[in-house]
Amino acid sequence: MKTVRTVAELREARDQMIEVLVLEGNDAPLVGMIPTMGALHEGHLSLVEAARSECDVVVMSVFVNPTQFNDAADLDAYPRAAERDATLAEQAGVDLLFMPSATEMYPEGYATTVSVTGTLAEALEGAHRGRGHFDGVATVVAKLLIAALPDRAYFGQKDAQQLVVVKRMVRDLGIQTEIVACPIVRDEDGLALSSRNERLTDEDRLRAISLSRSLSAVAAAVADGETDTSELEALGLSVLAESDIDVEYLAFVDPETLHPAVSVDAPVLCAVAARVGEVRLIDNVMLVSPGRDTTDVTGVS
Ligand code: AMP
Repeated sequence: MKTVRTVAELREARDQMIEVLVLEGNDAPLVGMIPTMGALHEGHLSLVEAARSECDVVVMSVFVNPTQFNDAADLDAYPRAAERDATLAEQAGVDLLFMPSATEMYPEGYATTVSVTGTLAEALEGAHRGRGHFDGVATVVAKLLIAALPDRAYFGQKDAQQLVVVKRMVRDLGIQTEIVACPIVRDEDGLALSSRNERLTDEDRLRAISLSRSLSAVAAAVADGETDTSELEALGLSVLAESDIDVEYLAFVDPETLHPAVSVDAPVLCAVAARVGEVRLIDNVMLVSPGRDTTDVTGVS
């Protein structure tokens, strides 16, 4: 694995890797990219596995993007583990690791923002973290995709709204990267893996399970035939209320438009966000009524 810190080095290394593959007889090598903020866990590594199985050159970026944090304390507290990340990335099969500094990404005089407007960026996370959050996400992902020019980029369904926003941005700007959605990786007890989980105390770790438990209860009710999202919301909130956490939202939305959904007569994204102690966590599940077409439930096509 090669580690680079500037966009110029990234481009050069990417082109060299492609050139070698072409010389070896691979006419059209595919480049796959996994953008991350580091503190890698099995969720990130599942994206590497997906990219490794489909692409010839696998690029990962590790960059804690300051512009998507609405809270300076949250940015400061975000876990950083550059050396461990490099070891895990190499073991997982990453070919090229891009670890830029903040000034490499946003040099003095930097003045451009990519902004996805409307409900996609303003609902759910946008409403709670402020609309600047997805401006930060869209801008950094656009910059990373333009820097690495991957054929495919792999994102986790864990950040379901981020996926919808990135898909819209890529389509709108005509960036020729296919966005691939990958399933949520969870701990055995159901907690969705997140770099932020590292910051949970033992007690908070137990409380945090209520997020996935509420989503499981909602999904089970849908499997039993409940379609009314106000009933489902009451059920999910009752599970969340059993543990001492600050729920920010439990929402039922159309997975493509993110408009509120009143009934699960088509796939519905159920998303939850809560503060558990010092840590803000999110999770989600796609709800599909029994007997409905389940061929496209990612909501990010
Ligand atoms: P992050 O480093 O948190 O910005 O995440 C980088 C990428 O990994 C994003 O596409 C996330 O959606 C994805 N990701 C984070 N956690 C998980 C998880 N538990 N399962 C699958 N993908 C994940």
